[in-house]
Amino acid sequence: MQIQLNKNKTLPIDCKHFIDGQYIPSFNQKTFLNINPATEEVLGKISEGGELEIDLAVKAARRALKGEWKHFTTEQRSIVLRKIGDGILARKEELAALEAMDTGKPYELALEVDITRSAYNFYFFADYITSLGTESHMQNQTALHYSYRRPVGVVGMINPWNLPLLLLTWKLAPCLAAGNTTVMKPAELTPMTATILAEICKEAGVPDGVINIVHGFGANGAGSALTEHPDVDAITFTGETKTGTAIMKAAAPTLKKLSFELGGKNPNIIFADSNLDEVIETTLKSSFMNQGEVCLCGSRIYIERSIYQEFLEKFVEKTNELKIGDPFEEGTKVGAVIGKEHYDKVLSYIEIAKEDGGTILTGGSRPEHLSSGYFISPTIISGLSHDSRCVKEEIFGPVVTVLPFDTEDEVIERANDTHYGLGATIWTNDLRKAHRVAHQIEAGIIWVNTWYLRDLRTPFGGMKQSGIGREGGIHSFEFYSELSNITIKL
Ligand code: NAD
Repeated sequence: MQIQLNKNKTLPIDCKHFIDGQYIPSFNQKTFLNINPATEEVLGKISEGGELEIDLAVKAARRALKGEWKHFTTEQRSIVLRKIGDGILARKEELAALEAMDTGKPYELALEVDITRSAYNFYFFADYITSLGTESHMQNQTALHYSYRRPVGVVGMINPWNLPLLLLTWKLAPCLAAGNTTVMKPAELTPMTATILAEICKEAGVPDGVINIVHGFGANGAGSALTEHPDVDAITFTGETKTGTAIMKAAAPTLKKLSFELGGKNPNIIFADSNLDEVIETTLKSSFMNQGEVCLCGSRIYIERSIYQEFLEKFVEKTNELKIGDPFEEGTKVGAVIGKEHYDKVLSYIEIAKEDGGTILTGGSRPEHLSSGYFISPTIISGLSHDSRCVKEEIFGPVVTVLPFDTEDEVIERANDTHYGLGATIWTNDLRKAHRVAHQIEAGIIWVNTWYLRDLRTPFGGMKQSGIGREGGIHSFEFYSELSNITIKL
């Protein structure tokens, strides 16, 4: 299914399921439409899967677990992973174009971040497995204990729409590296790059049935069919916290192993002793990159009062310089949000902010020069109290709130006053303060004087209601493999 695509694209692009090495439609031929959020045009039809397609895919994955894949050596799996990475880079412009059309994000961002990093996910885990050991313990020369790692089995993957290929490959690469097979359900709003990835995997030598993709909806659709299926051993899910609750309930009767990467409402704490130019440059990204549709975006900005005014002036000025519009135009920094429903949701939060007495310092609505597409200008809101819903709830759009603070203890308390615990950013040039504050912030991922700087060996994930478990390096293998301990009496 080679798609010839340049920036003028060829439509329509239909997405079928990929089961047991073949692209197939739904049994009942049911489809739904895929809409480009930047143009509101129809991109193509997506096959709508449900229980039957999930069952077919799970059976294929179960068979593949016992087939030739089982006999792949670590080195052979590593080679296949490398080839998938190569396959992604060989088609990176096409994949970036598809990602931009599916999500509304800038093409340049898709190319540089989503697609390039997707390939690196495979390169990283290809290398990682070749040096992965297990523990052994000699007990008083009377017994030898060693652990043995085996795949979990059939892994169900459920993904969100904000970083479609990047987050899917972040799960798929370690899943394959550990020798599992999988059934993946991409977000219903962003099916295209996953569909192409199936072909890339096949060409790279992944045996039929090892990876399967079923498109469709979440609740009462392919998503819940996957989480309820008795022959799925584990579910890895990235998405909203409330969906995590539903998945946990659905997976409970068959006691599946679970990994959850959920929502966030991350604090960005700026102390007066930080380098303001650096702060502004990075805060623009941590606020508005990918239209603010990144789980790690720092949407609650706390600024020490002595630099509050200066920060606001510079931040508003630089925000107004961000180019918003056609994702395919050079230099576009902010594209469209994912769709009509989300557009209405984000705007409704801006209304709540106004009702709560907030001041819209910039943005707050659709940009005047864009009459169609789901565009919202980058929005900065001040003057809200700490318990406004805009400060408390995840908006997941190009909207940030700014609040001044006076003391370290006060800002720590504010930062932690949330059910979420995903990420946090701290800006200070005082080394002791940086450690002191970082140790007290309740978040799984804490950056000091930077944001979104990733090393794939490090633990990635959230605490509180932002997740269960960690991904990255050895932490991924803790989820994607089962360890057995073997004891030999000497
Ligand atoms: P979502 O929870 O609405 O949907 C995610 C996926 O779950 C989709 O594929 C959807 O079809 C499926 N789904 C929905 N209901 C389901 C159900 N009952 N059973 C099974 N599957 C179901 O999330 P979204 O709107 O696509 O993504 C945005 C959310 O994802 C935000 O909250 C964001 O913070 C979070 N996110 C978290 C991380 C992280 O690493 N922690 C990364 C990216 C996004």
